[in-house]
Amino acid sequence: MIKSVVSKEYQELQKEIVLLQDKWKQQINPETIRPNLDKAAMEAGVPAAALSAIDFEISLYLQWIEEINAMLIINNPELEPKLASIISLLTEEVAIRWIEEAFSSNHVYFVKFAEENGLEEWIPQFLAETALRPYLQLTAEKVQDEITHAIPGAGCPVCGEPVRLASLNEDGRKVIHCPRCLAHWNAKRLECAHCGNEDHKTIEFITIEGDAVSQIQVCEECNGYIKIIDTRQYIEKPSAALLDLNSIHLDFVAQENGYNAVGVKKDTH
Ligand SMILES: [Zn+2]
Ligand SMILES: [Zn+2]
Repeated sequence: MIKSVVSKEYQELQKEIVLLQDKWKQQINPETIRPNLDKAAMEAGVPAAALSAIDFEISLYLQWIEEINAMLIINNPELEPKLASIISLLTEEVAIRWIEEAFSSNHVYFVKFAEENGLEEWIPQFLAETALRPYLQLTAEKVQDEITHAIPGAGCPVCGEPVRLASLNEDGRKVIHCPRCLAHWNAKRLECAHCGNEDHKTIEFITIEGDAVSQIQVCEECNGYIKIIDTRQYIEKPSAALLDLNSIHLDFVAQENGYNAVGVKKDTH
């Protein structure tokens, strides 16, 4: 993903992408996703999507990539020559590989792919990931009722994305949301999602001046953080993807203060 660019234009682009993904999700035949939630594997932190048989429709995936390209070019015509070769590179074999590597967020593979094909570094992974998400989101919808909790450190129990966003629900309880697959699950108010630490002495909250609805929960054990947004006053609850994007200032504050989106357990020897 393009992490360094958070201009107004980029935010608008992301909103359009969220709308497209919602539309694409409706085009998937739900029968092509067959979850097989092995309890022991899930307790060991294997994400539900990895335990599901998914028959990807390659022609649909390619069509979505063409749609993203078209949208990117409308937003920035300079991209046209840079995106021109993509579709011809995407044979069925390459498309299947893209799906697999996007699923496991294999940044190294996509950087190499870009290099080998003379593309800008961000392009392949961005396209592959954007077109994969409707499948992850539909998988999340199918298994949502069975997703009650997450294993600390294992990321999202559906897609494995590192945890970084929570909201407070009507009775003040913490609900973690995955901005990638849109799954959600309950979590203890004072628990670090990255390392499981529940010690109130080493879990702190950073508040942001002028932003009454947001706080950053940080953990001194693993230096991980998550953003907590109190959405109780929102009339219309934004999707987790947009909530994540609209709260990107919190990521900057957390990272400036030395905290990471992925916790690292300190060596306590
Ligand atoms: Zn997820
Ligand atoms: Zn922690």
